[in-house]
Amino acid sequence: MLAHLSVSNSFAQLSPEFYTRLQPRGLNNPSLLHVNSDVASLLGLDKTQTESDEFLQIMSGNAPLPGGVTLSAVYSGHQFGVWAGQLGDGRAHLLGAVAGHDSNGKPCDWELQLKGAGLTPYSRMGDGRAVLRSSVREYLASAAMVGLGIPTTLALCITQSDDPVYRETTETAAIVTRVAPSFVRFGSFEHWYANRRPDLLRELLNYVVSHFFADEVKVAQNDADLPAMVCGFLDSVVRRTALLMADWLCVGFCHGVMNTDNMSILGLTIDYGPYGFMDGFQANHICNHSDSEGRYAWNQQASVGLWNLYRLANCFVSLGVPQEELTQCLDRYESVFTDAFREKMIRKMGLVQWQDNDEQLLEQWWQMLHGQKADFTLSFRYLSEVMHDDSRFLGLFSDKPAAQQWLLQYKARIAGIEGNEQERVDGMNAVNPLYVLRNYLAEKAIWDAKRKNPSTIENLLTVLRNPFVEQAGMEQFAVLPPEWANEIAVSCSS
Ligand code: AMP
Ligand code: MG
Repeated sequence: MLAHLSVSNSFAQLSPEFYTRLQPRGLNNPSLLHVNSDVASLLGLDKTQTESDEFLQIMSGNAPLPGGVTLSAVYSGHQFGVWAGQLGDGRAHLLGAVAGHDSNGKPCDWELQLKGAGLTPYSRMGDGRAVLRSSVREYLASAAMVGLGIPTTLALCITQSDDPVYRETTETAAIVTRVAPSFVRFGSFEHWYANRRPDLLRELLNYVVSHFFADEVKVAQNDADLPAMVCGFLDSVVRRTALLMADWLCVGFCHGVMNTDNMSILGLTIDYGPYGFMDGFQANHICNHSDSEGRYAWNQQASVGLWNLYRLANCFVSLGVPQEELTQCLDRYESVFTDAFREKMIRKMGLVQWQDNDEQLLEQWWQMLHGQKADFTLSFRYLSEVMHDDSRFLGLFSDKPAAQQWLLQYKARIAGIEGNEQERVDGMNAVNPLYVLRNYLAEKAIWDAKRKNPSTIENLLTVLRNPFVEQAGMEQFAVLPPEWANEIAVSCSS
């Protein structure tokens, strides 16, 4: 039934040092928990196909993808600021790339990767498995990002089984099928730099540029053109990463493990683990309980993005690219990030155009949210209605006089804007989501999933697909979190 798919294997055509060909170890008695029909349609898969036993067997690691070459890739990386040496796909199997189309209908190849399908040569101390809990979290977060318009790897489906997996407690195994144009990471480049293999570094660079940056960068035909190619490529990665950081910050997202092996070379959000969409705003919020120093706190992410880019850029010194040229590319990061962040904030706050005093207004906004730990998502969302009725907005703040004081300034600023009031409100609502994947909502989906019940996943995907549009009957997904949400601890254990 899936034999008609057009499958290619460009990564498998790289030199054998890049990966190990192997078979996944599938789940026992697997069942399909959920399929994301949006992702399926990008791959040209319809319901009869995704409901087939063949689909289940492939996605649970029990049958090969017809036409695919299964492999696990090697990479290295800096973890929590320290060089960690070789890592690699410790529990990920690349099945091949399916010809499909992107969300604009343009033809493209989508790589399919099983996460949790058994040991690989890169598993180190791990068991090659992923627990249902973390699989549901990755599955939901990928869809949430798509709905928010933030670049991300996608997730096609989750298969699950009763196979035990041992973490802090005994849990059960699941596999998420991830989908992306490529899963190459900053750490994929660092690997060849660290291993003193400029030949393989260059091979990877040529591969990535020719396959994924062809619209922006020309592949160098000779050594003289190499610095221009590297700088063109690095410029693009710098820009994508800076924009991604602005995107994350503006929805209160914390990745949690921004190690260089978890940084997509395409500027996608990748490797969802102990991530979190903030409830109450704390600028220094740490979503990952294993991150004791707060290296990856919400307000550190933009600078960590740049730190990681430095690690990437440094690799190209070994290709003879002058340091100064690399530094020039990196120097552009800050302005790309700052401009994007400011532009987004103008839209989120409904300011239409930047004015001198706005700096102060925004600074006080963040201080107020932080000081009162006000709900990130609803503070922005309810701000759109304050000219008409400020009761819901003020209801989010414990120190109401302080909030009222700020609101006076804000209202005065808005009152000075010419133009249609409804347009401004609609414009704000189009960038401030009503629904986000709060930790406690993911937790509810996990409880159900453990009972093999996908209904919460289904409902969440429905609201998260259109997070900016209020949906009838979905009020429960748009409210403040319950008390127990504070107790949810997410760590690297997955
Ligand atoms: P992470 O920071 O979670 O993306 O993982 C860092 C490295 O550990 C990657 O190389 C993963 O493939 C590997 N890894 C994480 N969990 C496991 C596991 N359960 N089994 C094998 N490898 C793992
Ligand atoms: Mg990872």
